[in-house]
Amino acid sequence: MALSCQKDSYLKELNSKVVCCEKAQCQMIINGKKSKINGFEVILEDTILFPEGGGQPYDLGTLNDIPVLKVTRRGDKAVHFTETDLEVSKDVHIKVDWHRRFDHMQQHTGQHLISALAESIFNFSTTSWNLGEKTSFIELDTPEIKDKDLQQLEDTVNEKILAGLSVTPQLFYDKDDPEWKKASCRGLPADHVGPIRVVRIEDVDNNLCCGTHLSSLSHLQCIKLLGGEKGKKGKTNLVFVAGKRVLDYLGRSYSVEKALTPILNGPLDKQVELADKAIKGLKASQKSCTNLLRDLAVMEARLFNMMVDKPPLYSIHRKEGDNEYMNIIATEIEDDTPCFLTTGEEKGSGMFLLCGPPQFLTQAQKKVMELLEGKGACSGGRLRGKANKLSNRSEVEKYLLNLLSES
Ligand SMILES: [Zn+2]
Repeated sequence: MALSCQKDSYLKELNSKVVCCEKAQCQMIINGKKSKINGFEVILEDTILFPEGGGQPYDLGTLNDIPVLKVTRRGDKAVHFTETDLEVSKDVHIKVDWHRRFDHMQQHTGQHLISALAESIFNFSTTSWNLGEKTSFIELDTPEIKDKDLQQLEDTVNEKILAGLSVTPQLFYDKDDPEWKKASCRGLPADHVGPIRVVRIEDVDNNLCCGTHLSSLSHLQCIKLLGGEKGKKGKTNLVFVAGKRVLDYLGRSYSVEKALTPILNGPLDKQVELADKAIKGLKASQKSCTNLLRDLAVMEARLFNMMVDKPPLYSIHRKEGDNEYMNIIATEIEDDTPCFLTTGEEKGSGMFLLCGPPQFLTQAQKKVMELLEGKGACSGGRLRGKANKLSNRSEVEKYLLNLLSES
C-alpha cells in the first residue's frame, strides 16, 4: 500500500490510527555529534510523513503535537520515532513540517528533471545524487561537463519549468506488469513490497521512484546549475539549487558581495581580480617581513657582540619573532654567552629558546620549563619549545642571572 504522502504529496495534515508503539533507541546527530536517544517507534495505519527514500531525506512533523524526530522505512511501513509514547488504537493527528517537505519536493523533482535531460541530450547517466543542506548534487557518469553544455542543460531545464509540465505518479500493482519495466529505473530495493511507483514528467521522463514530488514543474520556480565538480573515479558532481533555494543562494551571494565591495574597494565583476591582487600583495609583504626579521636578528646579535661591558645574560623578547629569528641570534652571539629568547604574546603563550654552556643548561633546564609552563626538548646545546606562561619571563630572567652569579 502506498502512503498518503506518496498518493498526494501536498497533504499537510492527516488523521490516522496508532497501530503499534514500542520502546526503542534512535541514533541521531545532535550538534555534529552522534547520540543515542531513548524513545518510541510508532507505526500508523497511514501517514503523510515520508521516510527516507529515492535520495530524499525523511520528513519532520508532529503526531498529536508530539515532535517526530526521524522517520525510517521498514518494508512498506513508515516508522516514526518520538520521545513520548502514543496509545495503540487511538486516533492521531499528523502534521508535516511543510517548509522542509516542500523544499525536499523542489530539490527532488529538480533532480528528476536535470537527470532526465542530461541523459536525453548528452547521454550522461545519473549514478547517484545527494540532497544537501544548502546545495545538492547529481553524480553524472562523465569525466567532465563543458561550460557550453552546462549552459544548454540549464536553459533546457528552465524552459521545461516555464512550460509548466505536469508531474504525475503512476502506480503498478503487479511486479511483472511489462508497462513499468518500460520506465527508466535502477531496479527495486531488495526489501520492496507493495505497488511499484513510476513518476512521470510530461513529455520528458518516466522514472521509478518512491519519493514525494511536485505536481507541476511550474512549482519548481527555477533551477540554477552551479557547476560541475570532480567526483569519484571518472564522474562529475553537478551542483544545483532549485526553487526557493535559488533565491536563498542569491540572497547570500548578494550579502557577501555587499560586504566585500568596501573591503576590496570595487564592484562584483572586479572582486576576484582585486582579491587576487590583495592576497599576492599580502604574501609579498609577509616575505619581506620575514627577511627583515632575519636581518634584525643578525643586527641585534652584532650590537650585543660590540658591547664593551656585556651583561652575563643576553635576554630578549620579540612578539613577532619566530624560531628562525631565535636560532639566528643564538648562533650569532659570541663567547658562549647564555641567551634567553622568547616570542609570542607577552602575557600569554609563545616560543622560547635557552642556550649557553652545557653545565648552565643542565642546571637551568628544569626550573625554566617549570616557570614557563613549557613543553620542549634540549638538542644541539639549545633548549627550545613552547612556553605557556610568558608572563613569568622576568622571573626566569631573575633566576638565570642568580644562577650565573653563583657559578
Ligand atoms: Zn523521485
